[in-house]
Amino acid sequence: MQLDDERSAQIAGIQRWRRSVVRLWIVTMLAALGVLALLAGVALPAAVEALLGTALAAITGLALCNMRRGACPSCGERIRFQPRIELPPACTNCGASFFAPAEPSDRAP
Ligand SMILES: [Zn+2]
Repeated sequence: MQLDDERSAQIAGIQRWRRSVVRLWIVTMLAALGVLALLAGVALPAAVEALLGTALAAITGLALCNMRRGACPSCGERIRFQPRIELPPACTNCGASFFAPAEPSDRAP
């Protein structure tokens, strides 16, 4: 069915975006930890410290922009992540589900 295909494509798109948000945040966290460890453990020239700080700010901005890009495919309402960057199960505005309905074959007999 045409509508079902469209729905699953939208849900797949949201899931792809969610994974990219999580991946980018993990990279950001690792970069932040690395920079902090470097700054704490090694005496670096001021220019290098400034460069590291700028790079960290850039990747954090990128992660934030990517996170804010997500929108409900049904109504366009921006998706707000819940704590611990979890995707809400459905749009808070129109109630459209962000997850594909479970297949009956997935359930144990
Ligand atoms: Zn919506």
